[in-house]
Amino acid sequence: MSNLFIEVEVAPEVASDTALAAKLAEVCPVDIYATGEDGSLRIVEENLDECVLCRLCIDAAPAGTVTVRKLYDGGAPL
Ligand code: SF4
Repeated sequence: MSNLFIEVEVAPEVASDTALAAKLAEVCPVDIYATGEDGSLRIVEENLDECVLCRLCIDAAPAGTVTVRKLYDGGAPL
């Protein structure tokens, strides 16, 4: 159905941390991250193809907890 360019993986402890979720929503320039009513992280699937590979989300969270995978490159992590 969709032909995605990237996918993001966020560790559950980050996705449920309202401060980190808000930070991710703030840093991503193309709004791939949002927060739900309870403040937890929501991935905005329809924006995934807008990723500019800036790494700001990776740098905003503890090491290894956010992974951006390049689906056009065999799923290699950014
Ligand atoms: S790499 Fe940049 S554009 Fe892509 S999801 Fe992370 S913050 Fe958003």
